[in-house]
Order: sequence, then C-alpha cells, then structure tokens
Amino acid sequence: MNRMGKTFVILCAGVVLAAWSAAAVASSGGVGISAEEAWQKLLDGNKRYIESKMAACSESTPSARESLTKGQKPYAIILSCSDSRLPPEIIFDKSMGEIFVIRVAGNIIDPVVLGSIEYGAEHLGSPLIVVLGHERCGAVTAAVEAKGKPEGNIGALIKAIAPAVKQAQKEAAGKDKAELVETASNDNIRLVAASIPKKSPIIKHLLKEGKVKIVMAKYDLDDGKVTKLESK
Ligand SMILES: [Zn+2]
Repeated sequence: MNRMGKTFVILCAGVVLAAWSAAAVASSGGVGISAEEAWQKLLDGNKRYIESKMAACSESTPSARESLTKGQKPYAIILSCSDSRLPPEIIFDKSMGEIFVIRVAGNIIDPVVLGSIEYGAEHLGSPLIVVLGHERCGAVTAAVEAKGKPEGNIGALIKAIAPAVKQAQKEAAGKDKAELVETASNDNIRLVAASIPKKSPIIKHLLKEGKVKIVMAKYDLDDGKVTKLESK
C-alpha cells in the first residue's frame, strides 16, 4: 500500500472509531454501579455458588427476558477460559443481562477478543473487566508441554501462552510440572491483563478516565472459589 493509501485507511479507521465512540456515549450512560461494586456482586454470586444457594436460574424468567429485549447493561465483562468446568454464569451465579462473557481456551487475547472487550466496555458501559484463569488449565498445560514450533490452530493458542510459560520456567525452575503449570497460568492471567490496554487504545483511554478497571482472578477447581490475583 502506498503512503496515500495508508493515510486513507488510518483516516477511515479514525472516523469509524469516532462514530463508535459518539454512539457509545449516547447509548450507554453507564450501568449505574462502580467497578468495585461489580466485583463485589461477582464475589457474592460465587459465594452463593459455593454454598449451593444459587438464585440466578430462578431469575431467568420470561419477564426477565422481556425486560431485556430493548437492550443490555451488563456490569462486568468476563474473559475466561473455555474449560467446561467454569461457566462464568454458573460460578458467579448470574442471570441474563448481568455479565458479558468472552470465552477462549487459555483466556488469551487477539483482535477479535479485544474488539469484544471494547464493545462491552465502551458501548455497553461495563465498568469492570475480569481476566479469569483457573487451576490445571489444559491450554496452559499444552503450552508447557509443547516442543518445537507449534503448528495449526492449536499452535496459535500455544504461541499466545508461550510468553507466560517462558516467564514461569525461570520463576519455577526446579519445581515439578504441576507447579510450573500453575505458575504459567498465573503469569498468563497477568500478562493478558497487562496487554489489554497496551493493545487497545480504547481500553487504555477508559482506564485513564477511571471508567473501567481490570481485575485478574483465578478459579479453584476443587472448592469453586474465585480469588483475585494480585500484581507482582
Ligand atoms: Zn483452561
């Protein structure tokens, strides 16, 4: 592409972005709660799930569906692993319209995932983004066990998790594979969370404005608890 072509593409992208931003401001109006309150609602739901006191299923009624026909205002965006053992709606005890869920093996990001996060945060007004990993993740284990150049579409997943594995190999040197997988899983959650604003100017801007917050979390397969993962 020549220089003029590149300039045209950049200008068009800018116009689209500006139009989307204007539409977002006009349509979202926020969800009425803060990121901290949204996180607390998730923790409260997780507690109900652990204690077998779940309420969301009985709230998913025809009238609830009717109330959501004109739009949605989910208060949290959840980027979680696709693992069948941790559906976010169940482990957080949430009903229709509450959480905007993006699931991909290894809870990694790519342009499509980032676009979904941007839609949830800017257009729908969600104040909270949760990057949710979990124990004994198959995708992270595959990345730890990978030898040579990864191939095919699963190779793309392994490649995305590889930086976390590389970091974990230094941190968990001499430890067994199970510990290496957990260290890599934690590093992957942290690296993904750190990459979101680096790769998304929209999220970077919303973070700067205090309109959105990112929380890193990990799900315990044994007791069902979701715990916040702190930065190093
Ligand atoms: Zn997983």
